[in-house]
Amino acid sequence: MKNKGLLIVISGPSGAGKGTVYDRILERAPEIQKSVSVTTRLPRAGEQEGVHYYFKTLTQYQQMIANGEFLETASVYSNYYGTPKAAVLGLIEKGRDVMFEIDIHGARQIKARYPQSILIFLMTRDFEVLKERLIKRGTETPASLKTRLSSAKNELAQYELFDYIVFNDTVEQAASDVLGIICAEKSRVKANEAAIKKMLSN
Ligand code: 5GP
Repeated sequence: MKNKGLLIVISGPSGAGKGTVYDRILERAPEIQKSVSVTTRLPRAGEQEGVHYYFKTLTQYQQMIANGEFLETASVYSNYYGTPKAAVLGLIEKGRDVMFEIDIHGARQIKARYPQSILIFLMTRDFEVLKERLIKRGTETPASLKTRLSSAKNELAQYELFDYIVFNDTVEQAASDVLGIICAEKSRVKANEAAIKKMLSN
């Protein structure tokens, strides 16, 4: 019998570099499936439907909630984001590993509904680095910078929810750390029990 795929969640505060590390992991391990989320926010320049997100109106999104189509859904900085359930669970059943880049509320819902999921918290080594990265990004006003830093502290305080923490010193090292975690999870005795038993029975 084929093992189920892994459900890997990357979460962490804005400025920690989730998106960049996520993309790098997928470049290095193209066999991992990207989970494409649904959102009510408008597409940014260069973003494509079905590649970066499925873009929906609020009414369409609410209908999807009512139909029970989400594995998790959360409101992040005044827009809705959610993970479509059917596609993800279908892939996992087929033995494919699926990776998500989602906020902490979504991560919590996933762990509750799918306890085998692997939750990884990506963070900078200290708050100064996080602040510098947010300032460098140039997308924050002084007020929103303050909000994001206080959200970051709040997220870090929920560290016990996670199975692993990865410090993002460089993109390459952080991507290697996540790939190492995935490799370790696949090497668990539990994950290989069927193969071991088969060998023993011969
Ligand atoms: P952005 O609008 O910059 O693409 O994403 C904003 C935030 O939404 C990021 O923190 C990202 O992790 C989070 N996010 C993206 N997709 C999902 C999702 O499907 N569910 C949840 N809960 N958060 C998401």
